[in-house]
Amino acid sequence: MADFLKADIEKLMDGVLPWPAVQDMLKSPKDPNRFDKYVEIVQGRVDWKERILLPLTPALFIVAKDGERIVKCRCGHEFGDYRVNWKLASLIHVRDDEASIAEIYKGRELPDPGWVQIREYVCPGCGTQLEVEAVPRGCPPDFEFLPDLDTFYRDWLGRPLPDACEYADKTLDAIRDWSR
Ligand SMILES: [Zn+2]
Repeated sequence: MADFLKADIEKLMDGVLPWPAVQDMLKSPKDPNRFDKYVEIVQGRVDWKERILLPLTPALFIVAKDGERIVKCRCGHEFGDYRVNWKLASLIHVRDDEASIAEIYKGRELPDPGWVQIREYVCPGCGTQLEVEAVPRGCPPDFEFLPDLDTFYRDWLGRPLPDACEYADKTLDAIRDWSR
C-alpha cells in the first residue's frame, strides 16, 4: 500500500510536484490515511483553531464550532450552517448583459445574455472569488456539495463524529426565514 510523504502531498496541492512523481501517485492505490494527511496540511495553513471536518474547496472548509458545523473561509469569514448553500451568504457579482459577459467570452463563444447569467461568488472577508457558475436566468444557486459527514466519518473513516446531526438541505429554511 502506498504511503506518500506529507511533503509530497503538499507539493501536489501546490502544483509543484514533478510530473513523474504525480504519475506515480496517480497510478498507486490511495494511501489509507490520505484524507487525514490532507486535512492536517490545510489545518496547518489557516490561522484559526476550529477543527476542519472536510475541505470543500481550496478556500472553504466545513469546521466544527461550538457544537455546530459551519462553512468557513481560509481568511476566517464564516458562512453559517454547512447545510445551507454558502453562496447565499457570499457577495454575488452577476454578469447578465452583453457588455459584462463579453469581458470573458469573445465572438461566437459569447452566450446569449437573454438566457444565461454568469454569477461570481466572492468571500466578503477577503475578496477571494470562491466559485463561478453559468446558469439559466432564474436558476437557484447551484448547491454543489452537501456531504453526509456522519456517514463519512462513521462508515468510511471508522470514527463517528461525537455530535451527529440531521443530514438535510436547509437552504430553503434559510430563505423562508428571510421573509419573517
Ligand atoms: Zn475569505
